[in-house]
Amino acid sequence: MRIACITGITGQDGSYLTELLLAQGYEVHGTVRRTSTLERSRLAHLYADPEIYGKQLFLHYADLDDPTTLRRLLSRLQPDELYHLAGQSHVGLSFEIPETTCEFTAMGTLRLLEILRDLPRPPRFFHATSSEIFGRPKVSPQNEETSIAPVNPYGCAKAFATHLVRVYRESFGLFAVNGILYNHESPRRGEHFVTRKVCRAAAAIKLGLQQELKLGDTSTQRDWGHARDYVRGMWLALNHPQPDDYVFATGILHRVQDVIEIAFATVELDWRAYVRFDPHLVRLNEPYNLVGDASKAYQVLGWSPQVSFTELIQEMTQAELVQLSQRN
Ligand code: NDP
Repeated sequence: MRIACITGITGQDGSYLTELLLAQGYEVHGTVRRTSTLERSRLAHLYADPEIYGKQLFLHYADLDDPTTLRRLLSRLQPDELYHLAGQSHVGLSFEIPETTCEFTAMGTLRLLEILRDLPRPPRFFHATSSEIFGRPKVSPQNEETSIAPVNPYGCAKAFATHLVRVYRESFGLFAVNGILYNHESPRRGEHFVTRKVCRAAAAIKLGLQQELKLGDTSTQRDWGHARDYVRGMWLALNHPQPDDYVFATGILHRVQDVIEIAFATVELDWRAYVRFDPHLVRLNEPYNLVGDASKAYQVLGWSPQVSFTELIQEMTQAELVQLSQRN
């Protein structure tokens, strides 16, 4: 049985990747941090299954700022594959907590690479980096060769880690891969992200639980895909004979306004009656027109996104309707 380890297993991507790896027959080990609440709702359905938890799926305490514990764990497990997804994943928040963002996202990745360098049989290593490393790119769409020039602390931390993954691959021969991930969403997306916020609001307004939705600049555009597609890309990248860097993206831009229109149409409401502009919600240094060219991932790995933007937003909104109805 192949053994995989995931940092950030409790996150959106971690939970979908766990499902994919379990279905492939892996033994899956996830690192979790000690927090004041034990809410790990994205994994709850797997915990609850006695045939899975404790047999094929295991969780271990190991923070990214605790290299001793990480080293001990990885030496003991000797995983075949290590997916490094943990980190402070919110761009806007990175302006408020830049040191924390860099400590975990940048230095956390370096600590893992240093541990791998010393292991007699290092696992294949996947690093979840981000399109935010490109900042305000002069070329569109961006690919693996596009200049790295981030414009926010999150992008800076990811850029540092991305460079180091390349350095450790080339200098120490590690099987280390950067997945340059464009935005990907799902019903399991964090609640502070705009797609989730809009889908939840549409469902809440439909159910009479909320009156209006306040947003910043709704003309902002993103290349949005479904998280399930992106974790399949991660797995394909680690199961290719050669380590390399890959852009994972849909190659299509949509506006926040499009999210609004699809979400409200899904619940059969006219968005114009409920959505208000709030200047306080306009983001600093908003990167723009980040759209990815995933043709290398397609040609080398056979990867392409399967879920359309409309299907994604509909799925998210319907999931909110179910969740909010059950809660109230
Ligand atoms: P989430 O925010 O949903 O999950 C982040 C995970 O990291 C959680 O499991 C969280 O644990 C863990 N984590 C955060 N800080 C620490 C820490 N100090 N020590 C240990 N664990 C920590 O992110 P996603 O699943 O959406 O994203 C996965 C990765 O992909 C992230 O690195 C993100 O930056 C990157 N990425 C994501 C994109 C997207 O659109 N989703 C786009 C580009 C890159 P806890 O549950 O305890 O908070």
